[in-house]
Amino acid sequence: KVKTILMDEKAMSRAIRRIAHEIIERNKGLDNMLLVGIHTRGVPLAKRLAVELAAIEGIPVPVYDLDISAYRDDHRKNSINTVSSGQNRFDADGRTIVLVDDVLFTGRTVRSALNAIMELGRPRFIELAVLVDRGHRELPIRADYVGKNVPTSRHEDISVQLSEVDGCNQVVLREE
Ligand code: 5GP
Ligand code: MG
Repeated sequence: KVKTILMDEKAMSRAIRRIAHEIIERNKGLDNMLLVGIHTRGVPLAKRLAVELAAIEGIPVPVYDLDISAYRDDHRKNSINTVSSGQNRFDADGRTIVLVDDVLFTGRTVRSALNAIMELGRPRFIELAVLVDRGHRELPIRADYVGKNVPTSRHEDISVQLSEVDGCNQVVLREE
């Protein structure tokens, strides 16, 4: 059942815009940058970030789609594809890669994503952006950019709804 609305549409778009500014500030621009969205909802979030980045700096930032479930389940059948051109894989050498996901929890998905990316070369930096950090990390992983920190208990669940996937934009705290 729904407990609280954590972010409405406005709060969500403000958070994404703020993160875009933080990315530009920390990296002093967008040189050599790639966004990699983690399937499913990290991908539309990465696309929205790319739109904001382009609006601020006037430079297009490529967006890739990383499906980590395959990587976790049957070892190294990961796929990284550009969202726009369908181009398979990229040269990670020297790049600044911003990984994007909806929710950061134990950190295990991000760890797998790091493995998948490292197989494509040697990035200069990998940074992590998440819409929600719900705590409960099991690995030494943290996000560089956070839309909202939400302390949760383990039996709670964050429902992230994005118009591209779910038909509306909000983040809701649920209890089973
Ligand atoms: P982790 O691997 O850090 O344990 O979990 C993060 C991954 O699982 C993310 O890809 C995220 O989509 C999903 N996830 C974990 N917990 C939640 C949650 O409470 N709500 C949503 N929407 N996704 C979650
Ligand atoms: Mg996910």
